[in-house]
Amino acid sequence: MHESERGYGEDGGPKRKKPKHNSHYRIHTEDMDTSVRKESYKVFISLIKEAESFAGWSPIHLMKEVHKELGKVVRASKTRSGALLVECVNEEQQTKAVKITKLGGQNVKCVLGRDKELVRGVITGIPVDESLEGLIANIGNVKVKEAKRLKMKRDGVLMDSLSVLLTFDELMLPQKVFTGFMSYDVRVYVPPPLRCFKCQRYGHVAAICKSKTRCSKCGGEHNYGECAEGATQKCCNCGGNHSAAYGGCEVFKRMREVQRIKVEHGMSYAEAVKQVPRPVPNTQRDGTDRKAECDMQKKSK
Ligand SMILES: [Zn+2]
Ligand SMILES: [Zn+2]
Ligand SMILES: [Zn+2]
Repeated sequence: MHESERGYGEDGGPKRKKPKHNSHYRIHTEDMDTSVRKESYKVFISLIKEAESFAGWSPIHLMKEVHKELGKVVRASKTRSGALLVECVNEEQQTKAVKITKLGGQNVKCVLGRDKELVRGVITGIPVDESLEGLIANIGNVKVKEAKRLKMKRDGVLMDSLSVLLTFDELMLPQKVFTGFMSYDVRVYVPPPLRCFKCQRYGHVAAICKSKTRCSKCGGEHNYGECAEGATQKCCNCGGNHSAAYGGCEVFKRMREVQRIKVEHGMSYAEAVKQVPRPVPNTQRDGTDRKAECDMQKKSK
């Protein structure tokens, strides 16, 4: 079973011509925004001991302890929930901050802070006929901005799944949401890899694409479907005998793994890419220099 917000058809072409009529593409636009937005490097530090909070700690003492571990940071502030929010100067410092286990002699745990728009999680087991407005209204423990039913594909047909994507108005992803007498575990949402509809590569969107147009069907340098007569299907990412939109493509699968690592471990795209080995190159590839991941995205970090 494959869950996704937008369907991965064999054929990504014709759908995009009518984005207004296809709700799945709205999310795509959001992904586009988040991929080009400048990130901030936040880390939440909380005391492991139950009911312990930083509330009573002297700000000067707290700042000294933070400096001891990390050096100078952009700012640090106490949150309402008793945690400490540290804004780091860069990704390197953030990576270091996430690994802190002790602060001022106390055991602490650290989680990566995300921009509010990115605090998204999935809950499962919501009947398909349940109203999502009603669901949001009944969630009592955290603020939810938006709920969206995830789709799944069965026998090539896109249909509603029992999973709902929640965008929280919170800085941290909650572990559970409570509605009435029910409680649901929240799992991190891993967005599908972003494929450029112009050049078909992963990791950026057409709006910022500087590469040549590629047809998702045959890999030729033309718009979708304007293929030469007798052209066969060829994926321009792996050279395989399928459309570039095919969910079974090795390059797609690798990019999906990169996305998962990126979200679950709070890594940058560039870091996450290094964790996943490239698939063995297909000898049928054309000779042009096409890297699966996108250099443009690396530069934007
Ligand atoms: Zn592109
Ligand atoms: Zn073509
Ligand atoms: Zn492929």
